[in-house]
Amino acid sequence: MSKHMTEAVSAPDEEARTPDAAHEAPSYVLEALDVSKHFTARGALGRTSVVRAVEDATVRLKPGQILALVGESGSGKTTLARMLARFHEPTRGEILLRGEPVSRSRRGRRAYHSEVQMIFQDPFGSLNPMHRVRYNLDRALRLHHPHLSAAEREQRMTLLLEKVSLTPAAEFAAKFPHELSGGQRQRVVIARALAVEPKVLLGDEPISMLDVSIRLEMLNLLQRLRAEDGLALLYITHDIASARYLCDEIAVMYAGQMVESGPKEDVIASPQHPYTKLLIESSPDPERGVGDREAFFAGADELGEPPSLIDPPAGCRFHPRCPFAMKECAEQAPPVTDLGDGHWAKCWLHAKGRAGVMADTTHAAATTARREALQGA
Ligand code: SF4
Repeated sequence: MSKHMTEAVSAPDEEARTPDAAHEAPSYVLEALDVSKHFTARGALGRTSVVRAVEDATVRLKPGQILALVGESGSGKTTLARMLARFHEPTRGEILLRGEPVSRSRRGRRAYHSEVQMIFQDPFGSLNPMHRVRYNLDRALRLHHPHLSAAEREQRMTLLLEKVSLTPAAEFAAKFPHELSGGQRQRVVIARALAVEPKVLLGDEPISMLDVSIRLEMLNLLQRLRAEDGLALLYITHDIASARYLCDEIAVMYAGQMVESGPKEDVIASPQHPYTKLLIESSPDPERGVGDREAFFAGADELGEPPSLIDPPAGCRFHPRCPFAMKECAEQAPPVTDLGDGHWAKCWLHAKGRAGVMADTTHAAATTARREALQGA
């Protein structure tokens, strides 16, 4: 296995998931090693089933690194982030903070949350609407910095509001959340997360509910925080265009599993998994025109819906929708292929020496050819 592969998202079968190996890489601030999360769902007749929301995912973040986790709804990316935020305990695998396992005690959880903070999609739901911005920020400061005096907290609050460009700070501190725009509310949420002086931010679609006109501002703010404070950021999104703008590395999830990861330039310019190729080709692109995203997904959906996580397909989980699927894809999980420079993919095309087939066509053209072949069979 290449050393590069441990940069941000390690290949699923990598040896470095063992605690000993993790200690050899103390530069990682946060790691999820081989984590899975299964939920029990109760059906209408009282029958229970297991939802396999995440299977054997490994993520590693270095200080100052931005990793984008991309995939459709239901791909498992939010569940993985919630495990990293410790809102869910993993069913299997472990979370390490600075190479150390994290304690489940109340004190351990608080210590963890003073280093790892999550920013949610809905800034309005994240703030207490009954209280002014001052209260929302002061509460975080009192909880995580009990030694600070009231005057010191007030001073910090001013600095935090200025840091997220909400000035004059005193004016914004006196407002209620409903008196702010969506972008301003999300800035307050970020200021509150920064109040605890975290080392890692987990952003779960942090710009998707904001007006398009201010999304770029928010991405630039996150970039600035990384540069100024060395914050590591896990940026969860279904939007590959914003991932391309913001991040250093991209990891792609499909149906609870990681299928490809690598430096963003490599993954975007040369996707090595058919699902990544679908995401990239379906992302808005002014040169291709409007409406392609729907057209691409509609094409893919003709070959099947995203799978149930209660009873996922055998072999490669993408095989019912994949226009490049071969016989073995439905029978056996694909192996991980190391593509060099930290780029890897989990697809049989590489193991079978057929990756060129994918490179030579678009996902849409391959889907059309596949559909015609199925109709002709
Ligand atoms: Fe498609 Fe097979 Fe690769 Fe899965 S393993 S993405 S079905 S070619």
